[in-house]
Amino acid sequence: MVPSYHAWLDDVRPSPYADQLSLGFRGLRFSRLLEREYRAHLLDDSFELKRIALSVAVVIWLAFALLDLVVVEAPHLWWILAVRLLVLAILLVCAALILHRRHTHLLLPLSLLCILALGVGAASIVGIAHDADPGYPYEGLLLVSMAAYFLVGLRLSEALACALAVLLVYICAEWLAGLPVPRLINNVLFLSFGNLMGAVGCYLLEYKSRENFLVSRLMRLLADRDSLTGLHNRRSFNRQFERLWRQAQRDDQSLALLLCDVDHFKAYNDCYGHQAGDTALHQVGVLIEQAARRPLDMGVRLGGEEFALLLFDIGVEEARRRGEALRQALQDLNIPHQRSDSASVLTMSIGVACLSPAMQSEPSQLYEHADRALYEAKALGRNQVVA
Ligand code: GH3
Ligand code: MG
Ligand code: MG
Repeated sequence: MVPSYHAWLDDVRPSPYADQLSLGFRGLRFSRLLEREYRAHLLDDSFELKRIALSVAVVIWLAFALLDLVVVEAPHLWWILAVRLLVLAILLVCAALILHRRHTHLLLPLSLLCILALGVGAASIVGIAHDADPGYPYEGLLLVSMAAYFLVGLRLSEALACALAVLLVYICAEWLAGLPVPRLINNVLFLSFGNLMGAVGCYLLEYKSRENFLVSRLMRLLADRDSLTGLHNRRSFNRQFERLWRQAQRDDQSLALLLCDVDHFKAYNDCYGHQAGDTALHQVGVLIEQAARRPLDMGVRLGGEEFALLLFDIGVEEARRRGEALRQALQDLNIPHQRSDSASVLTMSIGVACLSPAMQSEPSQLYEHADRALYEAKALGRNQVVA
């Protein structure tokens, strides 16, 4: 499997998803942080699958119990029914815990427990039945392995470990039941080849699932980021703004919006060329990114030479200070701009607005206030911060 996306991956770096895609993952393992993220995603993604698999397992288990009533005779029948009942009880308890969904960290151990209970139970039943009748079907064991490979949302390594454990228990059970060795070898070979097919299928499935995970995360990142500066774009801003607004309201905290517009940028482009303009915008982007340093802060390129900085839990005076620091930082970059009326270097104007969500107001009001402040900063001669 040679990845065919190398060509465009270079355009979207730096991103851990792109790096992992081009690095490959034939061993079905990502770098440490991504691996953790993938497993959390898998757990969430396979919940519905687990629910369906549990229902199917209970139904098939009960159907086989009915079959036992017909084909096995006492006293072996009582032992078999006891095992069926025990496994059924384990399944029901696990099902209750899984469907409750409160303890996410238990989802994986519970799924493994279900598969192992089914496998070990089935292997024991075959052993008990073969003690009396060597013709009792043992192929049902393969159903349990297939469930592990395809139905429960396990990773290949987990499914493989379960399948091997079940095979070992099966060999022990047949040994105790005294099944003739040639027959045992025949059965084990059949089960092993069945498992091999399941494992190959499971490998391909997990490979595709991992690839999908990386590509979809990358797409989401691309859709939310501005390609020139790597900052959030307007779409991402609109979505996050509403979310942060609600969070601020919940936590009774204030929110500040700084609208930044580079001064006389059309003249800068005309004088130094579009390429130099792009480089300058990239530098401004770096400053904005550095200013949005806390986890809930957000640096945005709204479009063109207009940027925004959304700051969480901050008063108006502190927000104005942060705006002033930002304005000064751009001025200190000393990017020459001989066609500017405001300074000899590239500068920007910043409008600051701050609202406490507890005040009966709308998110759009914060934007309007910041926009008005920016307009004022421009009118007052640019290269300044107005709050
Ligand atoms: P003001 O001080 O009033 O803000 O004047 P201005 O010239 O900065 O504002 P105006 O809105 O008239 O011009 C913005 C310019 O930004 C126009 C456009 O050429 C330039 N621009 C927009 N997007 C890009 C971009 O992605 N790259 C480059 N190089 N220039 C851009
Ligand atoms: Mg503008
Ligand atoms: Mg401008």
